[in-house]
Amino acid sequence: MWSTLPLLWKSLQQRAVLWNSPQRIRAIQERRLRALVARARKHSPYYAERLRHIDPRRFALRDLPTVTKADMMRHFDRFVTDRRLKLADLERFIQDPARLGQWYLGRYAVSHTSGTQGQKAVIVQDRSMTELLFALQMLRGSVLTVSPLEFLQRLFQRNRLAAVTIGQGFYPSAVALAYAPPAADVLVQRLWIKRIEPLSEVVEKLNRFQPHVLLAYANVLEMLSHEEQADRLRLARPGALRQIMNMSEPLPTGAQEAIRKAFGIALTDNYGMGECLALSAGCPQGHGMHLNADWAILEVVDRQHHPVPPGQPGEKVLLTNLYNAVQPFIRYEVTDVVTMSPAPCPCGSPLPLIASVAGRTDEVVWIQDGEQYRQVHPYVFVDILDRVPEVGLYQVRQVERNRFVVQAAPAPGRTLLREPLERALARGLEEFELTELLDLEVVVNADLAPDPKSGKLKRIVSDVARPDMDEARLAAR
Ligand SMILES: [Zn+2]
Repeated sequence: MWSTLPLLWKSLQQRAVLWNSPQRIRAIQERRLRALVARARKHSPYYAERLRHIDPRRFALRDLPTVTKADMMRHFDRFVTDRRLKLADLERFIQDPARLGQWYLGRYAVSHTSGTQGQKAVIVQDRSMTELLFALQMLRGSVLTVSPLEFLQRLFQRNRLAAVTIGQGFYPSAVALAYAPPAADVLVQRLWIKRIEPLSEVVEKLNRFQPHVLLAYANVLEMLSHEEQADRLRLARPGALRQIMNMSEPLPTGAQEAIRKAFGIALTDNYGMGECLALSAGCPQGHGMHLNADWAILEVVDRQHHPVPPGQPGEKVLLTNLYNAVQPFIRYEVTDVVTMSPAPCPCGSPLPLIASVAGRTDEVVWIQDGEQYRQVHPYVFVDILDRVPEVGLYQVRQVERNRFVVQAAPAPGRTLLREPLERALARGLEEFELTELLDLEVVVNADLAPDPKSGKLKRIVSDVARPDMDEARLAAR
């Protein structure tokens, strides 16, 4: 238990920041920004060049140049501040799923984003990140902890957290769980389910565990709300479940309603990205998301990078991550449509309120299994395709109930052939026990392009209507 005390102390400090005024929090932000810029200029050859005209003691944020993902990846080895880090080595390291949870060079957690814009970003973070992330989620984003006293009580009465993720990859959310500080085990009892197939097993495990907090992607939560409504999943009625947390994906209003209706408890949203997992924490009262302004700067901008005022959706955001010193994300472009709230959060938090993040999550598809319908999570495809380094943009289309066409373009600078891709898909389907059910056609299409407006390509589309929901509810397993 003693190893938990430093973590507990750090966590309480993160909570204490919230007793400050917004002005005081902005001062913390300013101080950390100056430290980050000074460090990047000194230790990253890329930034030494880009920021050579910047005086680290005297500059405004808008004086700093912006950075794109393509830029960052192209200059990766010069971008990072530790000269031992090389992109080629890191890519090799994350090829082996068995290494998830191992520290690279004894101190770094490595992850990659999934390439919705045709290119994956590789992200390196050091050990202190995992503690910070834990502290922020526990003390800023949890409805279970309202006072430090209650937090201390956790030492004697652990809460149960169930997390459902999908696939074997080094996805940011999987990395956050795999590298969680061991000391946290004293405070939280965890069940981490990494396989969504078969869904009946997930349901059974959750029924047995009876979590206080359930953490999953928006569309997994949607799948589970179907199960709860069909009375196969039983989490709400036994009464242990107190909070549901969405992670990694935008939570559309329809899904929010379905989840609230099925479970009838607090649902908190989260806006984060692989490049900054600690970006926000869901408002415990459900008003949106609180931007962790002491650890990150989020500029909502239009296409020309002019600021867009709160209350209006931007076209992009510029992210500055204030806690990652090894890979400095400074005014890093992300094509997310974000609306900041013009007013402070009604819950009283001094942190800026993110009112909404637009976007639709990848949709769950329904297939037929004998006489019954069942759900298949889109990440089954995403996971399989993201593991093939030669694949850039891709789109999976459900053309008939159990028939799918997979179109893929080569990643920048790579060659993609149909046969190895077919083999990778066949292996993946076998892993998810779907070989007998799905019929896949594979097309290599170098012309596959993202939507010019959003810069993204919908990864999963369906030409097949959902089965009638009442029928599906009765029949799905
Ligand atoms: Zn709030």
